[in-house]
Amino acid sequence: MSQKQDYYELLEVARDADAETLKKAYRRLAMKFHPDKNPGDRAAEEKFKEISQAYAVLSDPDKRAHYDRFGNDLPAGGDPFAGSGGVRLDPNHLRDVFGDVFDELFGSFFARANIHHGRDLQVRLEVTLEEAGAGAEKEVVYARPARCAPCGGTGAKPGTQPVRCEACRGGGQIRVQMGFLQMVQPCPKCAGSGVLIPSPCSTCRGKGLAPEETRRRLKVPAGIDTGQRIRIEGEGEPGRQNGSPGDLYVEIVIKPHPFFRRDGRDLLCEVPITFAQAALGTQLDVPTLEGQVKVKVAPGTQSGTVVRLKGKGIYDLRGLGRGDQLVTLAIETPTRLTPRERELFEELQSIAEAEAGRAGTAHKEKKSLLDKLRDLID
Ligand SMILES: [Zn+2]
Ligand SMILES: [Zn+2]
Repeated sequence: MSQKQDYYELLEVARDADAETLKKAYRRLAMKFHPDKNPGDRAAEEKFKEISQAYAVLSDPDKRAHYDRFGNDLPAGGDPFAGSGGVRLDPNHLRDVFGDVFDELFGSFFARANIHHGRDLQVRLEVTLEEAGAGAEKEVVYARPARCAPCGGTGAKPGTQPVRCEACRGGGQIRVQMGFLQMVQPCPKCAGSGVLIPSPCSTCRGKGLAPEETRRRLKVPAGIDTGQRIRIEGEGEPGRQNGSPGDLYVEIVIKPHPFFRRDGRDLLCEVPITFAQAALGTQLDVPTLEGQVKVKVAPGTQSGTVVRLKGKGIYDLRGLGRGDQLVTLAIETPTRLTPRERELFEELQSIAEAEAGRAGTAHKEKKSLLDKLRDLID
């Protein structure tokens, strides 16, 4: 590299840009200049190389401090970051930057690069709607791989030892040049472990890990919904060879509720009322997530009327208040009448017919059945 451009200018950020800003800037530019997106474009490839180099330095606090002090004019020994014409990029670091598009950009290359890093684990946790609505302390029980007892985690049959992999000289990694990028790949011979196991342990089949029932307490935040995941850092599979452990993802599943349905932050429910209650008005005891409340039903209420109970819904996950409870009033038509009820309904019907006769065929004046009910009772 000859005349080097300023790393901050390359990434189009201010000199005091924080880590997040740098990450975003690099992500944006890398997507734009990625060689796959600009096939045959040497200028784009060169640009991609430059921004990757800039990011590799600025995203590392030590290297950044060094760069801020000395710039590209290193006192001695040239640029220690660039390697021999290549840019050293850490796949874990890139995965962090590119997230879900990482696989698209670098996937095939790094598919097995994370060999030392423990895998993430996932467990499902059932919670009630009440717990999801207001938040709760829960415990998850899951099978977490732990060091295999018979072999002490070595993966070798008790009494035998793993031997050093000569392909990588025990380092577990080999360097590969990928176009202009110099990358590190796990050794294909030993799958990155640095060792070979001539006679594997029969309990763990050479993996050195065996599942162990593990319990972890966690806070379920108010407002969480089915399908959302809570990450517990470092509680996944342990790493190998000093690799970092994976994370545990707790996927929330809300159990069906006998009375409520959830609609985002709102709770929906249906309460049956009788003809007479709808016609005359009444006061109902309606269940909420925190016990019963009194709900007034106005005289002349129609079936399907929705009463909104402000602030009785689900808490917002981001702490932005709370939803409502929407109570749909459903008038139930009686199916079995007592003789006295039958008598009253028949009387009601005869009044309705008399009214209809008086009003002729002018349907616009026809009273609703509920009005007639009220007439009857008055
Ligand atoms: Zn090896
Ligand atoms: Zn074992």
